[in-house]
Amino acid sequence: MTYTAPFTTLSQHNAHPLQGMPSTESLASLLETASLYLHVPFCHTRCHYCDFNTYAGLLPLREPYVRALFHEIELAGQAVRNADGTPRRSRTIFFGGGTPSLLSVSQISRLLSACYHAFTVDPDAEITLEANPGTLDQQQLHGIRAAGINRLSMGAQSFDAHLLQTLGRIHTPDEIEQAVHFARAAGFTSINLDFMFGLPEQTMQHWQETLARALALRPEHLSLYSLIIEEGTPFYSWTAEGRITPADEDLCADMYEYADALLQAEGYINYEISNWALPGHQSRHNLTYWQNLPYIGMGAGAYSSFQGRRYSNERSPQQYIRLLKANRLPEIESETIEHVQAMSETAFLALRTAMGLHLPTFEERFGQPFSTFVGDRLHLVDEAGLLDQSDGWLRLSKRGRLLGNEVFLRLLPD
Ligand code: SF4
Repeated sequence: MTYTAPFTTLSQHNAHPLQGMPSTESLASLLETASLYLHVPFCHTRCHYCDFNTYAGLLPLREPYVRALFHEIELAGQAVRNADGTPRRSRTIFFGGGTPSLLSVSQISRLLSACYHAFTVDPDAEITLEANPGTLDQQQLHGIRAAGINRLSMGAQSFDAHLLQTLGRIHTPDEIEQAVHFARAAGFTSINLDFMFGLPEQTMQHWQETLARALALRPEHLSLYSLIIEEGTPFYSWTAEGRITPADEDLCADMYEYADALLQAEGYINYEISNWALPGHQSRHNLTYWQNLPYIGMGAGAYSSFQGRRYSNERSPQQYIRLLKANRLPEIESETIEHVQAMSETAFLALRTAMGLHLPTFEERFGQPFSTFVGDRLHLVDEAGLLDQSDGWLRLSKRGRLLGNEVFLRLLPD
């Protein structure tokens, strides 16, 4: 089941051409950087809806995996050096998973030091670690903060105990609050909480209570995702067997709209369809993807996009470890991103954000105005009332947002 939540509009004033980030940095300079993603494919148990590349029962592999990842960081740093041989600059590091908080403080420190050695990491880099509230304790949070993690992203998902069980999560509602309090005490001033809506048996009241408890914690960032039932997950078979019933799409839309109105009233900016942040707390790492800027993914199954090439790593942690032991990069698939494809993707990604596409930046990047790139199609889509244009920004109109992918099909070349 897929559900595309409706967008909401956002004031475009004082926005940086690259989607609202307070930055004076030029596009040319940003294109020379590489954000770093480190994948940690271990979890205590598999949640019932999860189709990520992560594994339960492999915790004894953590140390050999960290050694392999350490080595991949060294090799990747060498492979993407600047033309003058200096290490590539990085503005963000993101430990994702899986459950990166299952690594020890010393393992996280070692991986960070590998990044600092192989890349030129900005002194004010955003360094995020994804964490499961059920795996965090006070001592560990102090340790990872001291090691250099400055942003914590927690998969909270719901404040309803029954829904957490349905999802197969290992934490309780109280553990979410406790983890945030521990993180604050450890010095974290940038915390994201993930929540899900459109869950089986979830009512509007459940959702309202979850949002109220979440806002009481005043996280700097909130990511709200509608449930997608993916093939191969327990949720998929349970839906087929009639054991669970997916949420009604109208209810999902109401939940999204309720959350958006509430969060905006509380001072959060809806800077991307599923993401809200207090001013200045937009995720720099995630903006890398939406701005179609370069990133290097390391670890089992990680994806990279760098200098016109997209490539991905071996997914099996065991095989990944074997390849690195043999001193080989674990890349298994690669595609060249042609110029036209890069233009389409950049426009597609930007138009999915609330800010939209900054037309002068597009022209600066690709040497061609967006209007000549899409030709008559722009006019046709514009006439149908699917786009809004002002101050150099192009974004989907309210109607365009509801039609979603159809607009992209009409607008962008294949
Ligand atoms: S904790 Fe996250 S990565 Fe792990 S199984 Fe659950 S949803 Fe998937």
